[in-house]
Amino acid sequence: QVVTRFAPSPTGFLHIGGARTALFNWLYARGRGGKFLLRIEDTDRARSTPEATEAILRGLDWLGLDHDGEVVSQFERAPRHAEVAHQLLAKGAAYKCFSTQEEIEAFREAARAEGRSTLFQSPWRDADPATQPDAPHVVRLKTPQDGETVIEDQVQGRVTIRNDQLDDMVLLRSDGTPVYMLAVVVDDFDMGVTHVIRGDDHLNNAARQMGIYAAMGWPLPVYAHIPLIHGPDGKKLSKRHGALGADEYQKMGYPAAGMRNYLARLGWSHGDDEFFTDAQAQEWFGLDGIGKSPARFDLKKLENLCGQHIAISDDAALLQEIEAFLAAIGESALTATQRDGLLRAMYCLKDRAKTLPELLEKAHFVLTDTPIQPDEKASKNLDTVSRGILASLTPHLQDASWSRDELEAVLNRFAEDQGTKFGKLAGPLRAALAGRAVTPSVFDMMLVLGRDESLSRLARAAA
Ligand code: GLU
Repeated sequence: QVVTRFAPSPTGFLHIGGARTALFNWLYARGRGGKFLLRIEDTDRARSTPEATEAILRGLDWLGLDHDGEVVSQFERAPRHAEVAHQLLAKGAAYKCFSTQEEIEAFREAARAEGRSTLFQSPWRDADPATQPDAPHVVRLKTPQDGETVIEDQVQGRVTIRNDQLDDMVLLRSDGTPVYMLAVVVDDFDMGVTHVIRGDDHLNNAARQMGIYAAMGWPLPVYAHIPLIHGPDGKKLSKRHGALGADEYQKMGYPAAGMRNYLARLGWSHGDDEFFTDAQAQEWFGLDGIGKSPARFDLKKLENLCGQHIAISDDAALLQEIEAFLAAIGESALTATQRDGLLRAMYCLKDRAKTLPELLEKAHFVLTDTPIQPDEKASKNLDTVSRGILASLTPHLQDASWSRDELEAVLNRFAEDQGTKFGKLAGPLRAALAGRAVTPSVFDMMLVLGRDESLSRLARAAA
């Protein structure tokens, strides 16, 4: 069974790169009936905060990236990490090193002066345990001194590192606490992780981590180190480019499905497919579709995909997403009437809205309090002449059967009688029905509002 994980360090919000890493792991597991686990790498006590953990969980929740099992805290597993270090000591794959910082510095000085490699070689590596002092020490891994470590990376290809370029890394610090590198390996092994999909800034770590797997005789996970995300200009992603927290995207009103679609395309491709559903993404996603070069963040494409997802969204689900959005930006909750109105209008709001705020702007006619207060632009469409036109239109609508065909026929006939085009009527009608200049079509608004409400709004605007 495939087991993937997302292992963020809780030192800040869930940024866009982290969200994509989580998504790739989620897609890979979900598409294969596997498990997607979540581990908070909170061993750096000075930089980890509970607020950051909260923000990461919130971001994942918004994006709909549900994980299996409990959230694992890496810090809480420190005793287990130390236990493994002691097992390595016991089997002779690790050793106690008593060298002091000064001695290590002196070693490096001398090596530099003699033009040798400055990688520290501990004199304790092969020391007879009987000669060991009872003194502070670290525990180091005995890294093979010849041969090479080969990472068969599913994205980067075969990466070879000569073992004589790796020093004997510290596993336990002198205070007995385990280092991060050991924690990652032990956790991944204990959690049964089969595939490690993460940023390529961890590629070098993989070589070191593999040393621990080898020493423990544990099976290696499959590695896939994914390239970073760059800004549209090809430079490192900055705030200005969209290096924001996931919750910022929620607050800007991008729907989660569109965000998932967009993030999936950020560094991964499936032929020419740009727009796809979650089911398709889960079916198609694979490590072979991940590109080797950095992906470029493109806000236009994000908006475009979000618009397409809004258009195909289920109405009830979209309403839920809107309510979550309003809560996220601190707006008051919808009233029952507003929810009703939104649901009835949803069919004509969904197309051509790229974000939830755009959709809500179009929904103004069902959300606003009555009587309608036209805004400045709409007011310009309600001058004396227009009001007169609305007044004379009303009787024609009174007896119309309230269907799109008939409404169209009535309005077109009326426009003709007035010696004008329907387009000329649209402005005043929008102003009367919605109090706005930009709205869904006049017919859609009239159908959603119904005869009584539509006529009352027209009468009020005409007065
Ligand atoms: N905690 C690491 C990070 O946030 C990820 C380590 C890993 O995936 O192995 O960059």
